Amino acid sequence: MLAELQQVSKHYDHPVLKEISLTIHRGDSIAIVGPSGSGKSTLLNILGTLDRPSSGRVILNGEAVELLDDNQLAWIRNRFIGFVFQRHYLLPQLTLLENILLPVLPEKDRSVVKVAEHRASRLLGRVGLIDRMTHLPGELSVGECQRAAVVRALINKPGLLLADEPTGSLDEEHASALGRLLTELNLEEEIGMVVVTHSMELARGMKEVYRLHSGRLEKLEEA
Ligand code: ADP
Ligand code: MG
Repeated sequence: MLAELQQVSKHYDHPVLKEISLTIHRGDSIAIVGPSGSGKSTLLNILGTLDRPSSGRVILNGEAVELLDDNQLAWIRNRFIGFVFQRHYLLPQLTLLENILLPVLPEKDRSVVKVAEHRASRLLGRVGLIDRMTHLPGELSVGECQRAAVVRALINKPGLLLADEPTGSLDEEHASALGRLLTELNLEEEIGMVVVTHSMELARGMKEVYRLHSGRLEKLEEA
């Protein structure tokens, strides 16, 4: 098992999540849909250790997140989880390849960096960007940048890929293409994937679909 939410609740000035439980295994792909403000980002951020639950537990890679020290948390965020957001957040002054290798730069071991460089070019080829790797983000389309952001999220071979509205900045055609790419990478890379989205089309590409409604998760369908 990669990750588990155990009766996670979150309150701000009002209850947002109510005793949500969810288990994610390697190879799973899970979509979470729901209207704006229903708590999708809150749920994903708690799963990604970017936010804390008010009550309940998050288990990642077999460990209770609340018991991890800062080093272990940093390891989980850098190595175990890959994040993709609605905006690509590529740094404009770095090439695509440099952006993608950024999460690897803290690594002292040169052989690890070599492996990552190899993996970066393989994945860039995989997403159709091999001839773009020395370009700056400003020279590329938003769809191309978002594909590069997916590669960056995968560079450290994470167990878990978390995506918050990954197609939210794309037109219909590029959104469909990115959705197909995520579905394929889920199988090829054997990662667990949780995708939060407005888009039912993107959601249908995942194996399980849940709707977040009044703070609770209800399962919609299984493909
Ligand atoms: P979604 O991603 O589904 O649009 P969010 O998770 O962003 O929903 O927000 C769910 C609810 O929690 C909203 O009512 C939002 O205003 C509230 N909320 C989210 N983050 C915070 C925060 N940091 N402080 C206070 N309220 C927040
Ligand atoms: Mg959101």
